[in-house]
Amino acid sequence: MGDLDQKIIAMDLWPLVLPVVSRRDHGIGSVAGSVEVIVLRLRAEGGAAGWGEASPWVVFTGSPEASFAALDRYLRPLVIGRRIADRAAIMADAARAVAHCPEAKAALDTALLDLTGRISGLPVWALLGGLAQGRLPLSVSIANPEFEADIALMARLQADGVGLIKLKAGFAGHAFDIMRLERIAQDFPDFRVRVDFNQGLPPDEAERRVRDVAGFGPEFIEQPVAAHHFGLMARLRDQIPCPLLADESVFGPEDMARAAREGICDGVSVKIMKAGSLARAQAVARMAAAHGLSAYGGDMFETGLAHLAGAHMIAATPEITLGCEFYQARYYLQDDLLETPFPVEGGHVIVPEGPGLGIAPDLDKLSHFKSMRAA
Ligand SMILES: [Mg+2]
Repeated sequence: MGDLDQKIIAMDLWPLVLPVVSRRDHGIGSVAGSVEVIVLRLRAEGGAAGWGEASPWVVFTGSPEASFAALDRYLRPLVIGRRIADRAAIMADAARAVAHCPEAKAALDTALLDLTGRISGLPVWALLGGLAQGRLPLSVSIANPEFEADIALMARLQADGVGLIKLKAGFAGHAFDIMRLERIAQDFPDFRVRVDFNQGLPPDEAERRVRDVAGFGPEFIEQPVAAHHFGLMARLRDQIPCPLLADESVFGPEDMARAAREGICDGVSVKIMKAGSLARAQAVARMAAAHGLSAYGGDMFETGLAHLAGAHMIAATPEITLGCEFYQARYYLQDDLLETPFPVEGGHVIVPEGPGLGIAPDLDKLSHFKSMRAA
């Protein structure tokens, strides 16, 4: 066991506010001005450090205050003094110690994996089963209420080699969604288009609006109705010719089991911030595949640090075949917090090969974004 016998001696937390470049609207709610995340650092007695991020969204998974309290008060005592080698036992204790708060648990799991990888000289993907895919097709979401600004973004994406876009729909009326789909089909015919309603459709309008959108031939339609409407999801799935994806309806493997049993979707958006650990996210994708369903690499409003965790998870998960959406570090934050830019090249995320996550946060940027919270 050797170096992994070292004990974890400190947990440091940075609650951060990161300014964004524009407003974004979704069926479920909006983001404007900034996003809030919690960055976590674990330190081992030999001096090594491991990093993780909790990226909650208050209308989706939970609040930054809840993530901070889960880590600071309830998970800290489970970690300090434990061996790095005992990651699975620590995560099992974490699951029992505090209900929900999957973003806090994902941050803890990420930091434990980063620490293990840095000490053992292995990338996180090697700790999760080995490399299945090192270049992940990047999808960028189109969600600006000012569509002309998104037209400019799409021109930039095309020039950058990005081939996938996801249109956020269901927040400003059916005519607005149809207008944007027509315009994209006409002006940007080379994009592969997906549509995500983020639960935005009322049940009595869902069938008509989803069928109209399906007429544009998107690669999939994601979560048109509220997370708990499993029966309606199943009916909509039967009524459209394109695949229906579940996102908010499926957080962890337990939800995936029910989703498969009740036939609510053709695929699932897998997110470490919903699942509560990288291994649980892998389990969601594997369960989906076992039921003949597809899997997509989703994310929350994250920095490059959480993107790295998700990218390593997908790299080791061949069941996730629909690409990823780790675009915020490059296309949405005014400035990211990593020491070197989150790696995107030719429309793909390039998974790092170095030990741990491969890139660490810049300490000066952590101080700067922490001071934004106090301001
Ligand atoms: Mg979604």
